[in-house]
Amino acid sequence: MAFRKTLVSRAVSARRWIHGAVALGTYALVSFFGISLWWVLAAGSLTGVVFGKVFCRWICPLGFVMESVTGAAGADSKFRNMYQYHKLGCPVAWASGILNRHSLFRIRRRAEACTACGLCDKACYMATLDEGKYSLYKEGLNRPGDAFACSRCLACVSSCPAKSLSFGPALSISKSDS
Ligand code: SF4
Ligand code: SF4
Repeated sequence: MAFRKTLVSRAVSARRWIHGAVALGTYALVSFFGISLWWVLAAGSLTGVVFGKVFCRWICPLGFVMESVTGAAGADSKFRNMYQYHKLGCPVAWASGILNRHSLFRIRRRAEACTACGLCDKACYMATLDEGKYSLYKEGLNRPGDAFACSRCLACVSSCPAKSLSFGPALSISKSDS
């Protein structure tokens, strides 16, 4: 089953609330219920195997605080860089970032449905930052969804008016998809 635009759009528009609630729950598990941080790290890495680097923007308490303080994908490059750099010390970010290329669920594009409107690239902080290097739809460029820094925010899928982009099982990606 692929998570297509409608479901993803709802999740993306509520992402900050979802992230806040999950982050609070994760914090409570460690701080008040004595769950070992190692279990959180192991579970976070496991989510990387299935979904890629979802931990940073959907689960992590520190990620939630950092995104709130720095405005992660905002216009100010100083704060944006602060957000990126805080991940350097996190083993889950490293593990799940590497897994982005191999996770069971991945972002894919049905080329035949794409109208080349470019809205996905405008929504993706990576494509915006590294214009000319990454694109979700242009041929010959790296796909940001497979890159280490993609945090599976799914803003790209949500922004696609043609339903060309989806988030689904990698096994169902055909040769015509990219
Ligand atoms: S999920 Fe999409 S919009 Fe978000 S960083 Fe990854 S490729 Fe870019
Ligand atoms: S938003 Fe969708 S239709 Fe537009 S360029 Fe991206 S993948 Fe193609």
